[in-house]
Amino acid sequence: MSQGGRIEQGLAGWRALVRWLGDVHSTDYLVAKANDFRLFTRIALLITAVFLSATVIWDHAIDPVNARHTIRLRLIESLALFVWLAASWNDIRARLARIAAVSMPLVVSFTFILVLSRLENGAEYGIGGFLYFFIFLPFLLVGQSIRFAVSSLACITVFPMVVASLGVSAGLDWGIYNAYVWMGFVPIVGIQLLCEYLYWRVSVYRRHVERLAVTDELTGLANRRRFFIESERILETHRRSQRRLSLLFIDIDHFKRINDTYGHVVGDAALCHVAEAIAQDMRGIDLMARYGGEEFLVLMPETSHRAALIAAERIRCAVRDKSFDAGLEDGRALQITVSIGVASDRPVADQTPQIDTLIQNADAAMYRAKQAGRDAVRGAADLSEPGAAKTR
Ligand code: GH3
Ligand code: MG
Ligand code: MG
Repeated sequence: MSQGGRIEQGLAGWRALVRWLGDVHSTDYLVAKANDFRLFTRIALLITAVFLSATVIWDHAIDPVNARHTIRLRLIESLALFVWLAASWNDIRARLARIAAVSMPLVVSFTFILVLSRLENGAEYGIGGFLYFFIFLPFLLVGQSIRFAVSSLACITVFPMVVASLGVSAGLDWGIYNAYVWMGFVPIVGIQLLCEYLYWRVSVYRRHVERLAVTDELTGLANRRRFFIESERILETHRRSQRRLSLLFIDIDHFKRINDTYGHVVGDAALCHVAEAIAQDMRGIDLMARYGGEEFLVLMPETSHRAALIAAERIRCAVRDKSFDAGLEDGRALQITVSIGVASDRPVADQTPQIDTLIQNADAAMYRAKQAGRDAVRGAADLSEPGAAKTR
């Protein structure tokens, strides 16, 4: 490979890494990850707390005479883990939880140094024993962002040297300490990155599957499931704001004929064609979905009945005027039309309008558009306007 090619490849790898780091620090990713790892972190903290109180056995093996002087310190180490556990009980990314995730390992590191100073020849064992605790950290920090976890690990690694400069060094050989701890730091950061990568792979796959579950395969629009989930949220927002909203029920006219005459492949293309024509008129806040076969729904937040009727009329004309190239041999374009029913509602005090009722009303109005000869728009009773006509 030429040098230019290698540079290009290197740059592409670097850009992929930067993109990945951005992805694993996006809010949605971090919130999902914190939720997924909440229970795992609780259990890991609990196991580590038990491990730390059990280290009195190690102290006893080193110096059976002075080991009793370290029991309280070992309990403090254990308690630090319980403080961390309590701070992150509900949300491992909460500010308090993150403060605990940095400060509590420092408490453990500090008490560990004190333990060594109380044991006869404790310093000979050096802080190597601390590495046992160090091994737990990637699992305790795995629910945090990778940036936070690595920074926290770096803090804990450097901390004993800071303590040493304050004179609390327990006679440790810092050369040996550095050899131990940096030897541990590198693979532990490696494990942390590997965990992050594995979770990211799972989350990419999960997002993909979730998207599939709420997307209509043919048109790429939201499917019924997503429509019902999102419409609940929109309706709830409207209950609080007391704003009005409208729903369009759009049905393609004589669609069966297209299938019967030109085949289902052309029918499928016609569905996509109509979906595109409708989508062109949508605002960012509108929720458009394929409701069933050749029926579409558009929920229009903050839209009065009158405005929705105007929008529906625009959509009707857009579909009719957008000729459909069905790839016929004679090059002829097909004209497709839709019938649209419009229903609107304004939430009344503390009552959220029901999506089912809106759909029923819009469907009934659409049915009347069909009866009127198709390629038409009809409105249902606008429940938000007292005395409004039941039909249009
Ligand atoms: P109307 O004007 O009264 O609505 O008549 P229509 O022919 O559009 O209505 P009908 O309910 O009789 O037919 C709907 C057709 O839509 C029947 C069904 O085969 C077809 N259909 C439903 N889903 C799909 C799809 O995904 N692809 C294709 N090609 N056709 C579909
Ligand atoms: Mg239909
Ligand atoms: Mg139809």
